[in-house]
Amino acid sequence: MSEESFLGKQKGLLFVVSGPAGSGKGTVMQLLMQDPEAFALSVSATTRAPGKNEKDGREYFFVSREKFEDMIAKGELLEYTDYLGNYYGTPRAAAEAVLGTGRHLLLEIDVNGGKQIKKAFPEAVLVMIVPPGAKEQERRLRSRARDSEESILRRLEKAGTELDSLGDYDYVIVNETGKTEETAETFRAIVAAEAASVRRHPDLVGRYFAD
Ligand code: 5GP
Repeated sequence: MSEESFLGKQKGLLFVVSGPAGSGKGTVMQLLMQDPEAFALSVSATTRAPGKNEKDGREYFFVSREKFEDMIAKGELLEYTDYLGNYYGTPRAAAEAVLGTGRHLLLEIDVNGGKQIKKAFPEAVLVMIVPPGAKEQERRLRSRARDSEESILRRLEKAGTELDSLGDYDYVIVNETGKTEETAETFRAIVAAEAASVRRHPDLVGRYFAD
């Protein structure tokens, strides 16, 4: 994705990707990550228990509350949140290592984290991925069989608050059932449009006339 021209080497951009549980945002991220030269996906730390098919260091770094609070105290997190009683946060060092390379950094985080990132990095692009409706969201959550009934109900309830934050976001994509590849394609189009944005190329004219 990084392109050499008189524009110079294209810098990687920072993307926040949020969406209610069952939006399918995780699957969309996996599709984007099929191009690891273009994208890097941040691995968060969390105090929630790992799901059956989750592996430490892959989906999350699963840590104790004590360890998480130590990371907060040491300033090791770029942002963090309490989501339904568990901590989730973005490790700072890994994120900063990606920024500055040509790769785009994807932060799959909740709306609270999204707001913190926008404040710290106004140039970040915030994308919300939503299921095609509450009924379909519930069907997806039940079919993935990861969460307990209680956790499903709390996640369904939380969808309302997440959608309330849509106004803080730059883009929204409805992830239609069975159309995840189309959703990923729309995401790639957003990335291309943002990279071509005039406000990201303030010194273009100078470079044009430079020998
Ligand atoms: P889950 O338990 O379903 O994996 O994640 C619950 C919510 O926490 C999701 O909305 C997910 O995007 C969000 N989340 C995951 N990691 C982070 C993080 O590092 N920071 C924030 N703010 N939210 C996160």
